Amino acid sequence: MEKKKGWKEIPIGGVIENPPTSLKNKTGAWRAFRPVWDEKKCINCMICVAYCPDMSIPVKDGKRMETNFDYCKGCGICASVCPVKAITMEEESKFRD
Ligand code: SF4
Ligand code: SF4
Repeated sequence: MEKKKGWKEIPIGGVIENPPTSLKNKTGAWRAFRPVWDEKKCINCMICVAYCPDMSIPVKDGKRMETNFDYCKGCGICASVCPVKAITMEEESKFRD
């Protein structure tokens, strides 16, 4: 009978072993819905930027940029808080092969 592993031998679970590596953890693959941003409607109020729980909405020179889909999990908060309805959530399957 195989000897059971003790707690020192089993892999660590439920933790990020190296916290600075979160950039390597591309969570965008979890997304079922994609926020589609209409740049023409956007008034650059930055509300979506502040609310995005994944910090997936970049800002450059005081302007909102396109969503970083490597990390956006598609929660829809940005679409919900946008005051001018410049973001709509669409099924991710439309954008993948
Ligand atoms: S859908 Fe969620 S994670 Fe993606 S950009 Fe909007 S607020 Fe951020
Ligand atoms: S909340 Fe809407 S208007 Fe404001 S920056 Fe985001 S997309 Fe643009």
